[in-house]
Amino acid sequence: MGDLQLRVTRPSYETWLRDTVGLAHADGEFVVGTPSPFVAEMLEQRMYSLISHSLERVVGGGAEVRFQVLSQDPGQSGTVATNGHQAAPPDGDSDAHVRPPTNHRGATMNSRYAFDTFIVGKSNELAHAAALAVSDRPGLTYNPLFIYSGVGLGKTHLLHAIGHQIVASGMSLIYATTEEFTNEYIKAIREGKAEEFRSRYRSADALLLDDIQFIIGKEQTQEGFFHTFNALHMAARQVVITSDRPATALTLLEDRVRSRLEGGLVVDIQPPDLETRLAILRSKSDETGQPFPEEVLQFLAERVHKNIRELEGSLNRVAAYAQLTASPITLELVKGSLADNLNPAKARRVSDQMVLDTVSAYFSIDKETLRGRRRDKQTALARQVTMFLLREEANLTLSSIGQTLGGKDHTTVLHACQRIAGQINVDAHLRRDIINLREALTAA
Ligand code: ADP
Ligand code: MG
Repeated sequence: MGDLQLRVTRPSYETWLRDTVGLAHADGEFVVGTPSPFVAEMLEQRMYSLISHSLERVVGGGAEVRFQVLSQDPGQSGTVATNGHQAAPPDGDSDAHVRPPTNHRGATMNSRYAFDTFIVGKSNELAHAAALAVSDRPGLTYNPLFIYSGVGLGKTHLLHAIGHQIVASGMSLIYATTEEFTNEYIKAIREGKAEEFRSRYRSADALLLDDIQFIIGKEQTQEGFFHTFNALHMAARQVVITSDRPATALTLLEDRVRSRLEGGLVVDIQPPDLETRLAILRSKSDETGQPFPEEVLQFLAERVHKNIRELEGSLNRVAAYAQLTASPITLELVKGSLADNLNPAKARRVSDQMVLDTVSAYFSIDKETLRGRRRDKQTALARQVTMFLLREEANLTLSSIGQTLGGKDHTTVLHACQRIAGQINVDAHLRRDIINLREALTAA
């Protein structure tokens, strides 16, 4: 039946299928293009059987899957797509001019995170209204605006939507994740360029800061943030902050700049009700270009309650399966493709103890040594890997990772995580280690 062009266009099952492309299918062999060797390896290691089994079910015979690395887009700086982290948008259409000129870390805003793709329901209508008001009249309505919610409920989406709108009206904007803000600030201080940092941040018409909870415990950065915030606020520049912990943003600011908070507004986003979940699924399913029967949407909406990212993930996963297998989306296919997701054992969270145990066994270094101060090469590497996995797999904050590892500084932790994330790209050994460890952790 010749080659079948298969394309997975929507962000797919979480991070891994996101940028893959079905290249060809012949005689039970499927060729899947991936954006990097790392993703290819991860898919092969972690999702191979899942993918091939589902293909087998549908083609009714053996299915081989081969992953092929697509030639690298020279414009892209090899973003490592790591678990639980949003990779840069694949379409590369995020507005370059949105970046502050010297923001080499390249905070990009996702062009899909716009107001017209945001489904409004009871759970988020307040946040949505506030975001609209702020975009219409930056600095003049609610300033600062705090948006908080649990993870995956639309904070970043709204923040980017505000950003797009502000840029569209010709104003200057700085959008940064709190991590980027922190990194830049620390770097500026270290290099004696604090003044440049200040003037750049303070020159913007609006500052959008995502995930302020990461600032907890970073005294120096908090200091930098207070002053930046103060300066912007006094000049009636809009500040919008998100946090996934309710009190964070407020308590952080309150002590220091309480008097400036009077014009501010704090809004939360609640988990969506069934109706809203269905509306979101309907809208996202339209974007996949594949027909999703109502009963399938209903099924998905009832499965996932608390997290829109997961809701989307399940939909994208179904879409990717259907596309890869060139089969229609039915309830049966859905149940098959999500079997893994629905298995509570697999969905179990990775704990910090699991990470410590696994790394310790893997490198044959006892846990006390990992927590200690020994600095020989192997110990240092194992410790950095532990930090990386505590962050990526156990979702610990930098400061609690520091505590878990015997009171290390959060900047040490940050440095370790960045180092490992970078090294994975160039060091095949390390990549293999990380893959093995992740395997072990998910199998545990
Ligand atoms: P958070 O920043 O709160 O963790 P995100 O903004 O990253 O969550 O949202 C997670 C995913 O869910 C994103 O892909 C986003 O587009 C989607 N999403 C969240 N809320 C909505 C909504 N109301 N309508 C459509 N998509 C949404
Ligand atoms: Mg977010």
